[in-house]
Order: sequence, then C-alpha cells, then structure tokens
Amino acid sequence: MKNPVKVTLTGAAGHIGYALAFRIASGEMFGPDQPVNLRLLEIPQALGSLRGVGMELEDCAFPLLHDVVLTDDPEIGFRETDYALLIGAKPRGKGMERKDLILDNARIFAAQGRSLNQYANRDVRVLVVGNPANTNALIAQSNAPDLDPSQFSSMTRLDHNRALGQLANKTNSLVANINRMTIWGNHSMTQYPDISQCLVGGVPAYDLVTRDWVIDHMIPRIQRRGGEIISARGLSSAASAADAVVDHVRDWALGTDEGDWVSMSVTTDGSYGISEGLMFSFPVTCSARGYQIVKGLELDDLSVARLKASERELLEERAIVDELLQATS
Ligand code: NDP
Repeated sequence: MKNPVKVTLTGAAGHIGYALAFRIASGEMFGPDQPVNLRLLEIPQALGSLRGVGMELEDCAFPLLHDVVLTDDPEIGFRETDYALLIGAKPRGKGMERKDLILDNARIFAAQGRSLNQYANRDVRVLVVGNPANTNALIAQSNAPDLDPSQFSSMTRLDHNRALGQLANKTNSLVANINRMTIWGNHSMTQYPDISQCLVGGVPAYDLVTRDWVIDHMIPRIQRRGGEIISARGLSSAASAADAVVDHVRDWALGTDEGDWVSMSVTTDGSYGISEGLMFSFPVTCSARGYQIVKGLELDDLSVARLKASERELLEERAIVDELLQATS
C-alpha cells in the first residue's frame, strides 16, 4: 500500500469544497491505489458546518481515506501538505468595488502563501480556485519565497471543459474525441477560448464550424457560462468547478494524455510575449517533471489581441495588489 498523499482544502465547507472532498476521498483525483489524508481548513464561523462535512465523510467509509482533520488553524491545515487546494475566498459584498475585492482576497492569499512557505511539504503543489484566482495565486506564490513558482497554479480547467462541451455539442461528436483545446489568459471575461489548434476526431475544428459561430456564440457563452448557471439554478456552479479541480490536479500529478494538452494558469516565462511575473493560462502538458508550457503555436492577429487584452487586465490586477504589498511591508 502506498503512503497517503496529504491534501488540504481551504473553504472546505463551501459549495465547491463540499462537492470536492468526497471525490478526492473516493480516489478520483489520485487513482484507486492511492490513499489520501484530508486537511479541511475553514474560517472559525464555518467550523460548525465543516463538522457536518466531516461526519458525512466518515459515513461514506471510503477505503482510501486514512485520516481527516478539520481545523481553522493554517499551521495544522498546511503542515507537510502535498497538495493545497485554495478554494475559500471572500465573495463580493453588496456595493463592493472590484478593487476592494481584490485587496481583501490578496490579504487572505498572502497569509496562505506565508503559511505554505513555512509549513507545507517542500514539493507541495498549489492550485488556486478562489477568485480572482490568477491574481490570488500570484500573491500566494510571491509570499512563498522558499517554494518554486512552478509549484503554483490557478484554475482555467472549468473554462477548458466548458469549451470542450460546447464544441462537442456543435459538431455532434464525443468530448473524448476532441483534443488540443486551449484557454488563454485570465479566469475572467477576458479569457480567450481558442479552438484554432483543436482536432475533432483528427479533423481540424475549423473545418467543422465557422469563425462566426466561435466569435459570436462559443466564446461569449464560455465567458458568461457562470452567470448562465446562476440564472438557471439560483446558485453558482459547484459540481462542475469541483470536477475541474479533480481534472487539473489529476493531470498535474499523473500526467496528460500523449498528443494532447490541457489549460492551466501558471507563472509566465515570456512565452507568447506575455510579461513575466503574472499567472496566465496556457496550453500545458504535464509529466513527472511537472508542467511544460506548449511553445511555438502560431497565433493570428485576432488571437494576439485577445491575449494582450487579458494580459492588460492581469497587469492592472497586479498593480492593485502591488500597492497593498508596498503599504503593508
Ligand atoms: P464556493 O465554494 O462556491 O466558491 C469558492 C470560490 O471559488 C469563490 O471565490 C468562487 O468565485 C470561486 N470559483 C471559481 N470558479 C468557480 C465556479 N466556476 N463556480 C463557482 N465558484 C467559482 O463559495 P462558498 O461561499 O460556498 O464557500 C467559500 C468557503 O470559503 C466558505 O465556506 C467560507 O467560510 C470559506 N472562506 C475561507 C476563507 C479562508 O480560508 N481564509 C476566506 C473566506 C471564505 P466567485 O465568488 O467569483 O463565484
């Protein structure tokens, strides 16, 4: 039997955390022969609800779940953790400015970065989901100077999966037969879902759909899908977000399929002309060496303009956060 992998979830009593914890415990993230220890971290006000999550996990009697700790103490939550899934974030309050939301969350993620730096396993891998996810990940990473930036990522996998679903529907094909989908940029309205490299059953996607459909229907639908789900359910998407977390971490840990890639927001290295020091979504492959950005894809002028628009937004977000770091350091 393998040694258990330790996984920390923040915001574990929230909607996404509730949908996610059971899937990790059942073995869907790391495979059917990999035991897991869960560290469920919450703010003090949510500990009552978290106790209920703990009881339900116990009642599932998952054979792979060796140990669960419920806590509001980051030292306990992050100590020697292998995977930190940072889901909890402050939601936008009534009348709250975007800048204030970014600053409030920056404080939370700066503290979590410092805790990871101090307590986590030196090989920890961190996925940020709580919004604004890209900038929160950047803040956490910059507050963890002893960890390598490549240990941090943020999630655009739900957008990636949404794009696969849209294209499969439109071309009447199976999701499993589509590869090389890419989400570029920020997890926000400026994200760029790009099918220019996609193959559907080996056929270029642009042989099967028109550019007008992509520009007028597919891209805006993915950008606004969160709102569409809130209108339908009266609640934000949680099961699909949790599913995307499972996909993101599984592929990062176990590797991507040969000949395919996935979308992950990772630290920029100058690829595709994007400024360094941002968290930006790229096509990546994953292997035992970690993730690699897929280099050298050709982008037309329209695509370059979309990447630049998302980069501009991330630079603006970083400027807001820079002010905070300077003010408090
Ligand atoms: P959710 O579990 O629904 O969402 C958590 C975060 O994920 C939000 O920032 C949300 O952004 C983001 N998110 C990313 N992608 C998606 C998506 N596709 N659909 C929905 N959300 C997405 O929030 P809850 O309010 O139910 O739970 C949050 C939990 O976090 C609470 O239990 C709270 O106690 C905890 N918390 C922990 C903190 C900490 O650890 N310091 C700080 C604040 C809260 P968006 O808001 O844009 O939907």
